[in-house]
Amino acid sequence: MQRADGVRASIAAACAHVGRAAGEVELLAVTKTHPVMAADYAARYGLRAVGENRVQEAAEKRPHCSAPALAWELIGHLQSNKAKLAAQYFDRVQSVDSEKLLNHLDRAAAELGKILPVLLQINAGRDPAKFGAELEDAPRLVEIALAKKNLRLDGFMTIAPLSATPAENTAHAQRTFAALRQLRDDLALRFARPLRELSMGMSGDLAEAIAAGSTQVRVGTALFGARPAPV
Ligand SMILES: *Cc1c(COP(=O)(O)O)cnc(C)c1O
Repeated sequence: MQRADGVRASIAAACAHVGRAAGEVELLAVTKTHPVMAADYAARYGLRAVGENRVQEAAEKRPHCSAPALAWELIGHLQSNKAKLAAQYFDRVQSVDSEKLLNHLDRAAAELGKILPVLLQINAGRDPAKFGAELEDAPRLVEIALAKKNLRLDGFMTIAPLSATPAENTAHAQRTFAALRQLRDDLALRFARPLRELSMGMSGDLAEAIAAGSTQVRVGTALFGARPAPV
C-alpha cells in the first residue's frame, strides 16, 4: 500500500519537525464512499480504525468487513433520530455537538448495554458552513458528557474551514487547531480529566494539526484517492 506508506512518512516528518514521536499520532483511514475493501485494506495495513461519515453507509458495509477487530468511528454529522443505529454500528462517535445528542446516545448505549466512547465536535474555526458546537458551549457540554453513565468522553474533534487559497487555508488551519488545543488544555485542567484525544487534521492540513498537538489525523484522499463528487 504505497499511498499508506507515503501518509505514514508525512506524519512522521510532521512529528519530527516539532519534536514529537511519530507514535503519538494515529492514522484514521477515512473510507467513506469507498467499498468495504478499503476498510479490509486499512486493517491489513495494521491500522486500528476507520472513519465513516454516514451511519447508513457504515451499517451496510460493516457486516461485510473481514476484519472483526477493526474499530469504526463516526466522523460525520449525526441526527438524534439515528443515535441508536450509530451506537450500534460505531465504536466511537466523534461528531457529538449538542446536549440532545448526548442524551440520545447515552440512552442508546444504555439500551445496548455498552459504554460508548465519544468526542465533542467543536467548530473551533467558527466556520458558518461547519457543524460542531461553539467554543463557548464546550464547558457545558463537557460537564454533561462526563455525567453520562454510558458515555466515555475521550476528547475533541474539529474540521478546519476551507478557504479560497492554500495560504489562507494554512493560516485558518493553524488558528483552528491552536484554538482546539487551548480549549482542551483549559477544560482538562478545569475538569481534572485528561481528555486526551484531539482528532484534527485531514489530507490537506495534517502537518498544521500535528504541530498543534493532534493525536489522530483523519485521512481519506491521500490514502484512497479522490472521492466521486457528491450528488
Ligand atoms: C472526509 C473527511 C475526512 C477526510 O478528508 P480527506 O481530505 O479526504 O483526507 C476527514 N474528516 C472528516 C470529518 C471528513 O468528513
